Amino acid sequence: MSTTHEFQVGEPVHINGLNIVCNVEKELGSGTQGKVYSLISPDNSPLVLKWYFPSMATNEQYDILESLIQKKSPSNRFLWPLALVNTPKKEGFGYVMSMKDSRFKSFSLWLSRKINPSFKALLTACFELVQSFHLLHSKGLCYQDLSLNNIYFDPENGEIRIGDTDNIVINGEDKGNVIGTPKFMAPEIIIGKALPNTQTDLYSLAIILFYILFLNHPLEGKIESSIKSLDLPSMSKLYGFEPLFIFDPNNDSNYPDPAFHANAIIFWNIYPDFVKRIFVRAFTNGIKDPMHGRVRETEWQITLLSLRDSIYYCKQCGSENFFVPGSSVFEKLTIPVELGGIHSDFKVQNRSRNLEEIQSNSVCWNPQCKTMNTHILNIRIDDRMFVALNHDTKLFLHHIDPDHKYDFSSPVAEVSRHPTDPRVWGLKNLSAYPWKVSKVNGDVIEVYLKQSFSLVPGTKIDFGRSKGIVCY
Ligand SMILES: [Zn+2]
Repeated sequence: MSTTHEFQVGEPVHINGLNIVCNVEKELGSGTQGKVYSLISPDNSPLVLKWYFPSMATNEQYDILESLIQKKSPSNRFLWPLALVNTPKKEGFGYVMSMKDSRFKSFSLWLSRKINPSFKALLTACFELVQSFHLLHSKGLCYQDLSLNNIYFDPENGEIRIGDTDNIVINGEDKGNVIGTPKFMAPEIIIGKALPNTQTDLYSLAIILFYILFLNHPLEGKIESSIKSLDLPSMSKLYGFEPLFIFDPNNDSNYPDPAFHANAIIFWNIYPDFVKRIFVRAFTNGIKDPMHGRVRETEWQITLLSLRDSIYYCKQCGSENFFVPGSSVFEKLTIPVELGGIHSDFKVQNRSRNLEEIQSNSVCWNPQCKTMNTHILNIRIDDRMFVALNHDTKLFLHHIDPDHKYDFSSPVAEVSRHPTDPRVWGLKNLSAYPWKVSKVNGDVIEVYLKQSFSLVPGTKIDFGRSKGIVCY
């Protein structure tokens, strides 16, 4: 027997805001705020109804939803409220949103190692998260309750979806029913000095990124494992009053315990220093100075994409590894500024010496392998970035056009193999703009759409808006 705030299978639901009538397909679940049902819509678009429990159906919640529906979603990554639902027969109200596709999984599957996504997919998910919250925050909105429970990802390609968007409010407005989820809340909220805001969102975001990349909470080290029962006072101390990063360079008293936090130690040794540095900042200054010390979304974006671009496959075991040239390498790189400079400035006799200096070496992290990988093929673009060139690497406008940062809408180049000799790799132009390629022998050729040039170290490419050099 259903109560006045529950729905039966098949029951019609009038969604006036969308001008449609749907039918309840089934109950998907019940949370702290209400029940969620899948709907059968007239055009078969997958929709979900969330109906609040009477105690949660407050005027404040209604206002929040109304404002979110008006503001529209920052991107399709958010499962955003589309329309409010009222019906005279039911107590309270609800709202409809798009249903996420079944390919989107909970991150808990990764944390419990039930799935094994690639580093590339994980880094794409991390990047998309940061990008989505950047968009949300730039609209003046704040999520308030960011945790691993309300984000989902496609383990194949890292695409994400963000759920539970009905707590999103205008930053600074003291509204909503939530203050956050334990372990993801910023220390200043736990100790009662602040309410959720965009700065506390940034802290929760850093926790999530650390969890995804290190499979461990950034504050759970020896201090946590020495606590016999993790009750409220000890949790408040650990996450709020005395938070200490497990890899704090100035205090090792909360260092990971190998018996309980092996993942943190393993992954800390895999990632390059520039990644560790940004996490150290996020959980040292970012804790001490909530207003100015937190890592900004743009800094995360640059770091995560640089890390994704540095992935190469070990020649022995095929594991994804991260390749980082020493900083001295960048100092030695000289890429001509002028287009005409490519062949006139490029001195063949100096090139071989320079290339020798920028040779790349890296030991595979896989404990069963530990092969020394040398001559990792990569392309360096305008001293701004480098991209390891694998058999499946694609370049996007993000890489070659400084005015289109973060544009991954369609590839402009891809690594290709020679049709008759698979050992010979090329870079194929997928854009409408021809490239000017200066070969090692001094010849300059034009490479048009669908044409390739051989990836011979020392080759220089003028992409139009940027210049690259093939290295190894
Ligand atoms: Zn290996």
